[in-house]
Amino acid sequence: MGTTLFNNVRILDGSGGNPVPGSVLVEGKRIKSVGRGNAAISTAGATVIDGAGATLMPGMCEAHTHFSWNDAATLAGIQTMPLEEHVLWCAKVAKRYLEAGFTSCVGAACAKPRLDVVIRNAIEAGQIPGPRYLAASQEITVLGALGDETLPHLPFPEFSFGVNVSGAEEMRKAVRMFLKYGVDSIKLNLSGDNFVPGAPADTNWMTDAEVAAAMEEVRMRGKRGTAHARSAASVKQALRHGIQVIYHASFTDEETLDMLEAQRDRIFVAPGIAILYAMLHEAEAYGITHEKAVQMGYDVEWDAAIESLRAMHKRGVRILFGGDYGFAMTPHCQNARDLEFFIKYLGFTPGEAIRCATLYGGQIMMKGHELGQIKEGYLADLLLVDGDPMANIAILRDPKRLLAVMKDGVFAKAPPTRDTFGAERAWSRAA
Ligand SMILES: [Zn+2]
Repeated sequence: MGTTLFNNVRILDGSGGNPVPGSVLVEGKRIKSVGRGNAAISTAGATVIDGAGATLMPGMCEAHTHFSWNDAATLAGIQTMPLEEHVLWCAKVAKRYLEAGFTSCVGAACAKPRLDVVIRNAIEAGQIPGPRYLAASQEITVLGALGDETLPHLPFPEFSFGVNVSGAEEMRKAVRMFLKYGVDSIKLNLSGDNFVPGAPADTNWMTDAEVAAAMEEVRMRGKRGTAHARSAASVKQALRHGIQVIYHASFTDEETLDMLEAQRDRIFVAPGIAILYAMLHEAEAYGITHEKAVQMGYDVEWDAAIESLRAMHKRGVRILFGGDYGFAMTPHCQNARDLEFFIKYLGFTPGEAIRCATLYGGQIMMKGHELGQIKEGYLADLLLVDGDPMANIAILRDPKRLLAVMKDGVFAKAPPTRDTFGAERAWSRAA
């Protein structure tokens, strides 16, 4: 069993508090002991990493991940990637996420039925490197809504980004298919999206009978329901039916906020606000000028989302970071940018931003008792960061500042040694 001692680090334990100097011993895949201050930890047989004052924090959890989004500018551009290339793409992206410090990811929908399941299984079996992963279904949607990419003259289901259903029985069949494949969660597109002409963000698409049928199956198998829900009515629908992870939640009213607060210990909100910002300000190269984005409704949604999320944060709703990276305007592995947005626009303190990536991350991964914090007995998913993320959160998306990534006690990105780093810093490895 390998043991690693991180010496001379600033421990940012993931609970939201300030870092403290100390050392952390990892044995096997777990954190064996945490020494605060100068408390000595036995080094016998351990690989010693001299952190030279770097920050040691829990690995981050991305709460709204789409490995199979292939950095295209449109849903069709994702969907038309052939399956064989798509599998390889997902495997490559999974490795990149892990090396970028995301030791856990919550799948929020994939582009072909089994992509997420196959990648999760390959990671768990040790066939490919990647984060801990919860596998999602494809988006389940209805004709005309977000995710229905069929064309009038080409009505083949393979052309659709999501799976189209009509009525409770078709819903039940689609959900059962994904459960048979082994997904951890079923994704329902309850609201529209400004991305889709004719189905903007504040519109609603599924009947209560359809959602109820889906959730009956989900509960029977002990799995989790998740929802694309931008409108207030869709957020309320998700809450009424026991859906646990709500993506976006841009539009709310007092009743919606009251319902969210009442269920705050059961639910998670992962808004993915970077895509709203990018559509408004950074998508011109992909044919979406600021003017066009305003016409599509993105300025109205941005304002509503900021107001809604600030209110949710005040009410103690767990808001998690990440979401909808994998489009041309929001490329993969810039996900930690959300943390900057949370501080800048949502009124988070840096500690709260860290906490939503760590403590809450362990909880959304259904492992809050052993994941997401630097605590004795917890799983050793750790990042060694050059600098203080509490002072400058942006360093978390700079690969050069991410000195090491550990998952399950094993380095996915090993720290530079004295040989590679020169005398400037004293990383060292015991014989
Ligand atoms: Zn999404």
